[in-house]
Formats: sequence, structure tokens, C-alpha cells
Amino acid sequence: MIAAVDEAAQIAADFPILAKPTSRGKRLVYLDSAASSQKPQIMIDELVRYYSEYNANIHRGVYEIASLATDAFEAARAKVARFINAAQTAEVIWTRNTTEAINLVSFSWGLENLKPGDAIVSTELEHHSNLVPWQLLAAKTGAELRFIEVDADGRHRLDNLDEKLRGAKLVAFSHISNTLGTIAPLERIIEAAHAAGAIVLLDAAQSVPHMRVDVRALDVDFLAASGHKMCGPTGIGFLYGKRALLDAMPPFLTGGDMIREVAYDSTTFNEAPWKFEAGTSNIAGAIGLGTAVDYLESVGMDWIRNHEIALTTYALDRLQRFVPRGLQIYGPPDPAERGGVISFNFADIHPHDMASLLDIDGVCVRAGHHCTMPLMNKMGWPATTRASFYLYNTERDVDALVDSLERAAAVFGIP
Ligand code: PMP
Repeated sequence: MIAAVDEAAQIAADFPILAKPTSRGKRLVYLDSAASSQKPQIMIDELVRYYSEYNANIHRGVYEIASLATDAFEAARAKVARFINAAQTAEVIWTRNTTEAINLVSFSWGLENLKPGDAIVSTELEHHSNLVPWQLLAAKTGAELRFIEVDADGRHRLDNLDEKLRGAKLVAFSHISNTLGTIAPLERIIEAAHAAGAIVLLDAAQSVPHMRVDVRALDVDFLAASGHKMCGPTGIGFLYGKRALLDAMPPFLTGGDMIREVAYDSTTFNEAPWKFEAGTSNIAGAIGLGTAVDYLESVGMDWIRNHEIALTTYALDRLQRFVPRGLQIYGPPDPAERGGVISFNFADIHPHDMASLLDIDGVCVRAGHHCTMPLMNKMGWPATTRASFYLYNTERDVDALVDSLERAAAVFGIP
């Protein structure tokens, strides 16, 4: 653990924002990586290098910097494909984020393949991004939307899984819950989904940044993730899809770059992945994400996962002191069953007040429904405070959270 702590402190030095004190002169204690991660200098430098040395539009230019931009853009795609162990680079489509990747599947695959009597199966844990698109798709196609339930600790209830999956054509669920940290029982759900004749979409927004995710070993059909949560820039994310599925799907958006041939009255489309990338892409974003992937691989995904388990274990342990005073910690109790996300409520302190008090001490956490309103309603929590960890966090950050919680307790007169 000591070696890992030292290593995390060294990693933190790669992130310039973490060295910048807050306006109150406090050390920045960033515990909101589930919302968006901080950025390493090497990634920021690559964005600056692209814009200052080889900025040009891609795919059509024949001059030198246009080729350099095209090569870097496509090399970044290959890096992401390798990172998730896709069989082909062409199985990675650039999107703006996880949300757009899921919407792409909903509009392109969903509208073509679902009909009344079919079922879309999701879970009660989902982020609105992996829920609202399916509500709309169900309404448009007449398919039924069903949910795998979760227990009071946010763990999937699989006792009636086969029944839930009857008639399912699509099973869309998150690998790790952004609100409770629950890691889904992937193998069970994916195997049962395929056995029922459904394809699987994995919302990996909270897992791809934090652990090794192998699309072929998992045998997922689609996977969605966001660059901004994995040390990359905002405005870039990706959809992985099995090639055969992508080839059979119509385009989502249409326009430039996604075509092969256009006449006044008809168009033939480019092949995957470009068929799904209409208009000028986020070139800098893709290149930056490629550099972020290089960076994460240089640290090691297994190291990151183990570090987050150790940090979550340490945090859950240190937070126990508040439990007799009214702290409620949500999510699976075993740190090995959860990602580095801890949602809690402390006595009757409103999460927004809590987040504001922690902010005074430089501790950044998120308060609210975390884009999972149905889950909050089911659990009967109006909101929670959420601390989330990443590779640059250390035990010192957890200690800062605990110290700040003590001050919040004092402010609210909690003995
Ligand atoms: N799914 C999950 C599990 C998430 O945590 C998030 C982001 N909080 C999203 C989807 C949506 O990601 P984005 O806003 O980058 O599209």
C-alpha cells in the first residue's frame, strides 16, 4: 500500500490542476472524477501541439499537415480499439460522449430492429443517458421496456433474470453505477441475454476509465464510453460495435464525410466507422483521447483498479467513525464489488449544503441525483453526496474528506 500511495502522489504530479490551490488557498482535493476526470499535462500538450503544429481537416486534404492530422486521428482510433481489445479498428466510432454513442444505437439499430412484442431490458441503476433513449425507442417501436431490479445495497437481483429476458432483443446496462459504484454481474447478464436472443449494450462510462475492459472477452455487442472521464478532453467519446452489426445498420446522422457517392437524388454511404461520423469530427478531441489512452496504459489499468479498491477500502474504513453519528453509506459493502464511488448522506445535512461546506476546504464532491432520478426515488433519497476516486487520488485526499466532514458535523452541531 505504501508503494502505491507514493506512486499515486507521483501520478498526481502529472495533473497540473492538482497543484493549483483554490481561491481560498486550499489544496485542491478532487473527488469528482465520476463526473469528469482531470487531465494530465501530456494530454494537454498534445492538444496544443495539434492546434499549433498540424491543425487541418482530415480525410480530404492531400497536403502534409492534413495527412498528419488524418494519421493522428486514425491512429487514436486504433489506440482505443486496442485498449478495449476490439477485433478491428473499424469497430470504434467516434462520438461526442457516452450519451451520443447510446443514442446512435437507439436511432440506428433500435428503430430498424424493434417491433411491438419485443423487449428492451435495462436495470434500475441506469444513468438517464442509458434510460431516456430506451424510453423513446420503446414508445416509437411499441417495444416494452423492463428493468432488472436492485436490492437496498444497489446489487442486481438476478433471481428472475430469465423471466425478465423473455422476448428481449436488447439488454442495455451499466458496467459500474455512477451513483452507487455497483459493479454489474456482467458474465451472468451477458450470457443470459445472448441465450435469450438479445444483443448487449454496455454503458462503460464508469468502467473503461478505471479497469481493464475487454470487449471480446466480455462478448458485448456494443459498448459506450466518454473521453472526458478517462483523462481525455471533453466532446469526444466512442461507440464500440461488432462489425457485422455496424455493417447492417443505417447511418445515424448524414452529411459530409460519411458518404461514398452522392447524386442529386441518391447517396451511397461510406463503410463503418466513417458511415457514422457525419461532418467534421472532433479531431483534436480524438487525438487527445489517444494520448490519454497511452497515458492510462503507461500507468497500467490493473494498477488503477487495485489502487481504487485500496483507496475505497481505506475511505469506507475511515468513514465508519461517522456512522454512529448518522452517516449512511450507500452501495455494496464490499469494496471489491464496487468502483471508486461512495455515495452518502450525513444526518439531516442536505447534500448541497454538504458539498458547499466541503468546497470551503477545497474538497470537490458532487451532490444531487447524479442523473439517476428513478433510482433515487426508488431508494427514497432526495439526493446524495458522492465522492469518487481516480488514479491521482491518495489517502491524503481521503483524510482531507474526513477532516472536512468533521468540520461539517461541527457546523451542524452533530456531536
Ligand atoms: N452513463 C454513466 C454510467 C455515466 O456515469 C455517465 C456520466 N455521468 C453517462 C452515462 C453519460 O456520460 P456523458 O455525459 O459523458 O455522455
